Order: sequence, then C-alpha cells, then structure tokens
Amino acid sequence: MRDSLEKKYNFETGMYRPPSEGGSASLLVRLTRNCPWNHCTFCAMYKSEKFELRAPKDIIQDINAMHDIYLQAKKISENCGHEGQITAPSINEFMQKTPELYFHPGISMLFNWLVAGGKTVFLQDADSLIMKTNDIIQVLNHLKTSFPTIERITSYGRSRTIVRKPVADLKKIRNAGLDRIHIGLETGDAALLKKIKKGATPEDHINGGLKAMTAGFQVSEYWMPGLGGRALSNNHSKHTALVLNKINPHYIRSRPFTPRPGTLFFKKSGNDLDRQTPKEQLVEIKRMLETLDVTSKICFDHAGNHWTTPNGRLLLNQSYEGYTFPEEKEKLINRIESGIKNYS
Ligand code: SF4
Repeated sequence: MRDSLEKKYNFETGMYRPPSEGGSASLLVRLTRNCPWNHCTFCAMYKSEKFELRAPKDIIQDINAMHDIYLQAKKISENCGHEGQITAPSINEFMQKTPELYFHPGISMLFNWLVAGGKTVFLQDADSLIMKTNDIIQVLNHLKTSFPTIERITSYGRSRTIVRKPVADLKKIRNAGLDRIHIGLETGDAALLKKIKKGATPEDHINGGLKAMTAGFQVSEYWMPGLGGRALSNNHSKHTALVLNKINPHYIRSRPFTPRPGTLFFKKSGNDLDRQTPKEQLVEIKRMLETLDVTSKICFDHAGNHWTTPNGRLLLNQSYEGYTFPEEKEKLINRIESGIKNYS
C-alpha cells in the first residue's frame, strides 16, 4: 500500500527556477533534466549532472500525479465545508492520511502553489525548447486542461536553441500556452562570450531574442554586471547594451557576477579574479544603462544586486517588474550616480 501510494503520487521536481517564479508563485514541472550545453565557465548549476530529455508520457504522468493530489485535497476541503479551496486544514488532513508523502521533494511546492491560486507555472530545467515541438505542445495542452486556473507559463531557453527552431514552431508553442522565455544573455561582447564559453555569439543572441519576440513570447534577458572584470568592463557594458537595443525585450534582468568555487572560471582564475569593487560595478551598470535605448522593464530582482544607501537601505528596487524605460531611465541613472558617490 505504502509503495503503491508513493508510486501513484510520484513526480519529479528540479532544483532551479528564476526568482520571479519563486516562493509559492509557480508550479515547477520538469520537462528535461539539467543543461544540454553545460560549458559556461561561470555557471555552477547542473555541473555534475548529465542532460536528459524526458518522454512526454513521463511528464504527463507527473502532471497526473499532481492533479490526483489536488483532487484528494479538494475532496477533503469540500468535506470540511471549505468549498474545495485548498487550505491549511485540508492539506493537514491529506498529509495525515498519506504520511508516505512527508518526504516527497515536491509536495510543499505543489501545495504552496495550490493555496496561492494555481496561477503560474515554470517548466524546468535549463532549455525546455530543445524538446520536439509536438512534445512540448502535448505537455502544455495537458497541463492547461488539468489545471484550468493557470494564467502564465514560463521557461528557460538558450539563444542557440531558439535560433535553430523555425518561427512557425515557436508560434505553435506560444499558442499552446508558453508565455515567457527567460534567456541567459550574460553579455553582448563577442570576446567575452567566447571567454566564458557561452556557446553563443552576439548575433545568436540577437537572432534568438528577435525570433522569440516575433513568435509572441514575453522575453526576459539576463545580463551579468562584472562578468568581464576590470579589463573587459567597457566592452562588456557597451556591447551588452547594443545587443539589447536590437532585441528590445520585455525584461532586462541584472544578475551580478560572483565567482563560485567549483566553476571552471574559479579554477582557472586562481588568485587573479580581477573582481570589480561595488563602486566599479555601479559605474559599469550606469554605462550600460546610458547606452540602452529600449522600451523594457529593467530589473534588479536578485540578492546579488546588493548595493545600499548610507542608511542601509537597498539602492535599487528589487521588484520583478523593475524600472520602466525610457520613462524611468533618468531617475534610475540618478539613483545609481548617488550610489557611486556613496561608495569610496
Ligand atoms: S546554458 Fe545556462 S545552465 Fe547551461 S551552463 Fe550555461 S549558464 Fe549554466
């Protein structure tokens, strides 16, 4: 009995999702395992893990398991007079009846999502669009039919993968319900992209970003202040802005570079990390923003955007919707200038 319940309610959950899909915000559905590229020198994610496509039937089985859990909790809620709403008492009773799931790695995520209204979904892991188009569509259809409360579905996607997919296929995936793609641009500088082994050129990033925009996705591009150290800072800020100007994505998100032990970057650099000071990081960001000519949301929605004011408050708003450009460009640059003055 115990084994059969564990099997019935089994579903996979991966490690990573963007902060904007965090907390109770999103249901995590694992389409693939790990990263098909896995060479970026700064990246510590998935490093010891092998990439694997998952069969659509296995993903659909995961969705069915999550849906079965939902139905059981809903039934309990109806019996308690909570009209089918997933509430703390209905979850407690469900868990008392199925203690086999106490150590299930995805159960809290699923219940948090249901309590929050079951609205947003993030498809894991690093590059879902690498799946065959019809397979993704099959999964999206099943997901939306199983949970009609879903309002937004997002995923990570690599520029090189998007470049290889026909626009017609991207449009089909968009129409099937994938709303937003999070793309790791990191930098628009050709030499730096090569140095970090991103496996994409500035042209790939431009073409991939534009293709995703043409297909109708919301596009969220991530760049890494500090990635080029002091030596490449000028080129990094300038060329990143020029690439982003060509894409004009919906979101531009700052993920300041931190050398992480265990990464290739860390091993190769030894004691010579060429790291920027907090002040130099702000100067680089300011230069990038001055060259930026977009109608995007500029976001600093990550703890790595750490700069503070003299009274200890965060210098930059860490909201997921960020600053609206061009309207708030001047205000943001002034704010960064005030931060630069405060750091010696
Ligand atoms: S593509 Fe993304 S997940 Fe893969 S190695 Fe590069 S940064 Fe890491």
